[in-house]
Amino acid sequence: MTLHIDLQAIVANWKALAAKAPGARAAAVVKADAYGLGAARVAPALYQAGARDFFVALASEGRALRPHLPDDARINVLSGHMEGADLTGLVPVLNSPEQFFRDRAMRPGKPFAIQLDTGMNRLGMEAGEWSALRAEALAAKPDFIMSHLACADEPDHPANAVQLASFRAMTDDCGVPRSLAATGGTLMGPDYHFDLVRPGIGLYGALPFAEAQPVVRLSLPVIQTRTVQPGEFVGYSATWTANAPRRIATVSAGYADGVLRSISSKGVSLYAAGTACPIVGRVSMDLITVDVTGLADVPGELDLICPEQTVDRLADHAGTIGYEILTSLGHRYDRTYL
Ligand SMILES: *Cc1c(COP(=O)(O)O)cnc(C)c1O
Repeated sequence: MTLHIDLQAIVANWKALAAKAPGARAAAVVKADAYGLGAARVAPALYQAGARDFFVALASEGRALRPHLPDDARINVLSGHMEGADLTGLVPVLNSPEQFFRDRAMRPGKPFAIQLDTGMNRLGMEAGEWSALRAEALAAKPDFIMSHLACADEPDHPANAVQLASFRAMTDDCGVPRSLAATGGTLMGPDYHFDLVRPGIGLYGALPFAEAQPVVRLSLPVIQTRTVQPGEFVGYSATWTANAPRRIATVSAGYADGVLRSISSKGVSLYAAGTACPIVGRVSMDLITVDVTGLADVPGELDLICPEQTVDRLADHAGTIGYEILTSLGHRYDRTYL
């Protein structure tokens, strides 16, 4: 089970997104182990390419990443300063007055950033909290002030302009670097770029960065093949029955590996050098069954993610988004980097 990860494609995608925001610094979001692809490999490759600003969700992720990056790389923690977190060498993005006071009491003089809520109502200080705190917060010199867009994958969504106006109203006279855009916002033009853009998913080759280079190939080994006769079924709950003699390959990977069970019976295929081989029957925990009747020779491996079936196509079939496909891939694959 091999997850082939093209680090040079990740670097190329980072550079392409950075070039869309020439007036801003480009950070790299590497939370959830770089969207499942391995932050310990992805972040150093991006550092080498010039990235100095990294984002993780949790202090524990930041602690794990810290030894892989030189000291001048800033690792920002989006969940901020949670009770008991070890933030040594990290920059918490403080999300509430409570986090601000906790952090300043425990880490006086240490770097921090501020997140404001501009409408998503998920993380960040609300306008009223910010106006009460801002004099004291600005006096403590935050690295930057950020907010996050809820609808940046839909550039015409009216919430984008509303959030932009709200962010401006809360920060225009702060004199502190600002950050609003993730991948979607980076693609929405200079109004959204401010001083620091924070792309994640676009680095990893998925929408909304339609021009991204593909990053992932997922190759799954065939364990055995058999011929099933008309009337015989395959897999749990007997959901698929052969209507003619079919050659079935049993492939190693299942829903425990992020091959979502919801793609069962949806016409999703694995690919043998470009030839589609439909998944038949249910995806089980560790195994998939595939109709390889159309192949003259069954290769040792079949691909689930490849140029013929991108992360986003697979996500469509599963009723989800590329983010969830990537972050579900799990720990049983050999991750190999090129
Ligand atoms: C995940 C996240 C990002 C990156 O978003 P993408 O859509 O993957 O580019 C940026 N900022 C915040 C606050 C996030 O939570």
